[in-house]
Amino acid sequence: MRIIMLGPPGAGKGTQARKLSEEFNIHQISTGDIFRKAVQESTPMGIRAKEYMDKGQLVPDEIVVGIVEERLKQPDLAKGFILDGFPRTISQAESLEQILHNSGTKLNAVINIQVPRDELIERFTGRRVCNSCGASYHVKYNPPRITGKCDICGKQLVIRPDDELETVKKRLEEYEQKTTPLIEFYRSRHLLINIDGEKSIDEVFQEIVDRLRGGKK
Ligand code: ADP
Ligand code: AMP
Repeated sequence: MRIIMLGPPGAGKGTQARKLSEEFNIHQISTGDIFRKAVQESTPMGIRAKEYMDKGQLVPDEIVVGIVEERLKQPDLAKGFILDGFPRTISQAESLEQILHNSGTKLNAVINIQVPRDELIERFTGRRVCNSCGASYHVKYNPPRITGKCDICGKQLVIRPDDELETVKKRLEEYEQKTTPLIEFYRSRHLLINIDGEKSIDEVFQEIVDRLRGGKK
């Protein structure tokens, strides 16, 4: 199965992608996680990406597409993948189409998680992440078992630097301008599945699984 998670920042793409990855036994590829790791390791790509991430801007297409193209060539993705946070521009989506075409594969579905702006702000404010394994929590909606500690690896949870309110506003603006055209792009290809992302994490998950298994668009 080859799936894309679409939706505004904070909608729950990463949360659902991790659960879907377990359910369908396929890898999650989060471009945000790849960049955060590169930033932590201060690689040349990380240093370049950080300039944009700190301002809440999208990293330029040519950097992102190169990374995804390399990752998609790896043999562990032969059974499928969940792309979380990519594509985010029409140009990225067109590049992805070409990459998949060249490898003789196709997307199965694009999950568009819909959440209103006020609720997104609430989600950013409470988000806590693990820098070690990338797990994401929410102080109210999805708290870890031990306050401030990751359930999976026990490391200290932190607030993402780009979850600060001014940066969040810029990220939402970038989403509106550059990413929302993808909704029509994938609708016209009959791949779009709209999901009400305002429900609980488990309800949203169940709806996605039902729609993927039922094959309804
Ligand atoms: P994205 O990957 O789309 O940026 P995340 O998966 O990191 O979003 O979710 C953003 C925040 O909202 C996290 O703190 C997460 O725990 C929380 N969250 C995710 N889905 C839901 C939901 N359905 N209800 C309430 N909170 C949620
Ligand atoms: P995310 O973890 O998906 O919220 O991504 C965090 C940040 O990484 C974004 O605000 C962008 O700066 C950058 N980023 C992640 N994925 C992409 C992408 N597909 N295109 C451009 N920038 C991206």
